[in-house]
Amino acid sequence: MTKGAFRALYQYPLMKKVFLSFLLILLPCLAACAPQGGKVSASLFAMDTYMQLDIYGSQTDLDAAEAEIQRLDRLFSSTAPESDISRINNAGTAVIDDDTLGLLSRSLELCEMTDGYLDITVYPIVERWGFISKNYSVPERGELESLLKNVDYKRVSLNSAEILPEGFKLDLGAVAKGYTADKLKGLLKSRGVGSAVLNLGGSVLAYGKKPNGEDWRVGITDPADTEKYMGVIACSDKTVVTSGDYERYFERDGKRYCHIIDPKTGYPADNGITSVTVVSDDGTKNDALSTALFVMGADKAREFIAADGSFDCVILTADKKAYITEGLTDSFTLSNTEYETAVIRG
Ligand code: AMP
Ligand code: MG
Repeated sequence: MTKGAFRALYQYPLMKKVFLSFLLILLPCLAACAPQGGKVSASLFAMDTYMQLDIYGSQTDLDAAEAEIQRLDRLFSSTAPESDISRINNAGTAVIDDDTLGLLSRSLELCEMTDGYLDITVYPIVERWGFISKNYSVPERGELESLLKNVDYKRVSLNSAEILPEGFKLDLGAVAKGYTADKLKGLLKSRGVGSAVLNLGGSVLAYGKKPNGEDWRVGITDPADTEKYMGVIACSDKTVVTSGDYERYFERDGKRYCHIIDPKTGYPADNGITSVTVVSDDGTKNDALSTALFVMGADKAREFIAADGSFDCVILTADKKAYITEGLTDSFTLSNTEYETAVIRG
């Protein structure tokens, strides 16, 4: 049909009606046939860090994920006065949400598993160094020794009226993002989402595969040049959690003091490790372990990893060594060849 003939035909009222009805039927069909699960993204600041959410789903899925992050942040924050953790810290006990109880109980197991290198009662020390107020200063050794009397996860009792002894304070900063990644995994699954990558500031949930069926590629920041990646891990359905000395730190007299504290000495970890990345499908465990292994130092950490065998790991040191578990040898690609790689065998 020529353009002229179409115009002529269209002038008939009946044809107009038929054409409009056709459109009315066709448009909803086209909408229904459009591919579902386009990418929706959001950047937000929560849990004291920048987060990036990319979900192949709907805006409602994205909103639900954001709301869940904000809900958990409101429970776990050590600084928001009304959070579950602040209320316990202020009064020694409080009525708390099931998520807070669940994370506290899991964290205590992980403190035990790591022989106290992870210690969720380290808050008084973290606070003294200025990591809460950002008003940093180097304490006297004696002051740290006296604060350490109030640091011991074994003194936390979830089954008695008093959760914390006087002077003790909880800090879930080392585990909250990993736990949040686990909760978001459940949320995406329950909403029928098949593909997403959520970067919760160093804790990355690589959920499902990319829509084209390929693995996600998660970059590992080079602590020596944080604008760059030193390597990339290809994975799917995994959580990749990194603890790094570049994430939060201050410098005095040319020395860097990072936010990861050795709960046995009260000093920031200073053993040559610059970052630890832990990979498995258990985000909470990864987060706990990345912090604890960072404190252990490379030798003890490698022994721990080889003995445990339930997770993969990349440990980076200031002298540019990259220790990588056997399970990652196929999926890890080195981008910065200044790093000398060595395999951790179980
Ligand atoms: P992450 O970035 O997961 O390694 O966690 C570091 C955060 O956890 C710090 O900002 C502190 O709030 C807290 N933290 C520092 N050292 C420890 C430790 N050894 N055990 C438990 N929490 C810690
Ligand atoms: Mg951690």
